[in-house]
Amino acid sequence: MASTVDLIVRGGRVVTSTSDVVADVAITDGRISEVGPRLDLDASDEVDASGLHVFPGGIDSHVHFNEPGRSEWETIACGSAALAAGGYTCYVDMPLNNLPVTVDADAFDQKLAAAEKSAIVDFSIWGGLVPGNVDAVDELVDRGVLGFKAFMCPSGIDEFPACDSITLREGMARIARRGSILLVHAEDPVVVEQHVDPLAGRGPIAFIRSRPPEAELAAIAHAIELAAETGCRLHIVHVSTVGGMEMVRSAQGRGVDVSGETCPHYLLYVEDDLQRLGGVGKCFPPFRTAGDRDGLWRLVVSGGLPMVVSDHSPSTSDLKEGDDYFQIWGGLSGCQSTRQLLLAKSLGVRKLAAVTATNVARRFGLPGKGEVAPGYDADLWLADLSHTDVVRREDLLYENRFSAHEGQPIRGRTVMTLVRGKAPEKGRFIRPVARS
Ligand SMILES: [Zn+2]
Repeated sequence: MASTVDLIVRGGRVVTSTSDVVADVAITDGRISEVGPRLDLDASDEVDASGLHVFPGGIDSHVHFNEPGRSEWETIACGSAALAAGGYTCYVDMPLNNLPVTVDADAFDQKLAAAEKSAIVDFSIWGGLVPGNVDAVDELVDRGVLGFKAFMCPSGIDEFPACDSITLREGMARIARRGSILLVHAEDPVVVEQHVDPLAGRGPIAFIRSRPPEAELAAIAHAIELAAETGCRLHIVHVSTVGGMEMVRSAQGRGVDVSGETCPHYLLYVEDDLQRLGGVGKCFPPFRTAGDRDGLWRLVVSGGLPMVVSDHSPSTSDLKEGDDYFQIWGGLSGCQSTRQLLLAKSLGVRKLAAVTATNVARRFGLPGKGEVAPGYDADLWLADLSHTDVVRREDLLYENRFSAHEGQPIRGRTVMTLVRGKAPEKGRFIRPVARS
């Protein structure tokens, strides 16, 4: 007699980072119990996925959901609903722009409570490293942060100041001792200051010129140096230049434990797009040249750039308006569209699974996540890839319904997103795997 499972997803094209074949996925107690062709099992429930692709649920390790404290910019309820609509089943929330910023155990507890109340997909939490909180590294690790985030330049909000070199070095030594990881926003503030030209005005091109590739390269070089010195695992967020990614790769070749990510906007847009989009397109690092955009894309396709994450950093629309691009809020809304944008740009399905799920879970140590394989959480995205459209404002689920990606081609309609085998409803806090 065939054994009974809770749910079988039948006949979809099951995609992993290394294969895509038509198969059934059996789910028991929220976990995948078996994957294979025409499974001979009885199930309490069945989903017919023929004609659909079955991906591992997406993991967006770079979002700013801003709760508690700035829920008029974004809420965990809206942000996590947007993710689920875009095929994501897990996110990792940045330590800013919520209030209080997540730089000690008390602030962590407040964020955990907010997410446990409102997140409809699973989640993890980044702690912050700022001047003065090096002593909080241990308590944050004990609470279960996935790692730490630091800025090497002003972050845009006063409560989360940039790290000086001494804080970075001491923080990295502490983080290394606990086997955790440091994420850095890498732009060198001195290089930026040198490139602010008061005669160039305050428009989009003057803003872009003030944050040249050299600022990113100088900061990455410094962070890598400190990682090599302290033995701290390092990750460079939103790499915007090919040169930046090459520095990461060459440091890996020297044995430094460093990785990098990029975002859809650096793969889609160039400097002129900031003029086209207006303030909605302001972010930092800014959009680059076609050479960087196309070079980063080639790295994603070839496997040299292992992660694409949204850096969803929304605000109210008034903060994205005006003529002074140095004052406009720097952050894009986009987490709902990442996978569909990458598919529309013809990224292969296995590569999509790798850069939006599997590689993220592996690098950051999210247990049970990022694979469609027995033993893993049944986090799945069932998508109809015959469907193409553009990003439409009326489809966005953000608290503030606008995005730099509006009008951009997308591919793939979400038929179903499953979090641990169920429709997204109540997310669970995911602690990192223990590292010695
Ligand atoms: Zn960010």
